[in-house]
Amino acid sequence: MTMQNNMKRQNIRCWKCKELFSLLIDISGEPTLTLTCPYCGTPLTINFAANPRKDIVVMRQADQGDSKVITVYDLPEILESTEPKVNQ
Ligand SMILES: [Zn+2]
Repeated sequence: MTMQNNMKRQNIRCWKCKELFSLLIDISGEPTLTLTCPYCGTPLTINFAANPRKDIVVMRQADQGDSKVITVYDLPEILESTEPKVNQ
């Protein structure tokens, strides 16, 4: 059975040390996330708002009603991160 959902294990590249790590993210939610590189500890920001979006069918369990269509971001294999902007 093919199950799709809004959580995706996404590869992210640290802007500073260039190491790759993966993170489970909600690709239907907030496109801007601030996190910390697990390799060098540097704060980094990912913003996938510029990526195309697509509709997927989310299967629900039998006791939770019908399946539904949600819109998610269609992300590349590797998402580049950037240095977080300092506010004011
Ligand atoms: Zn790093």
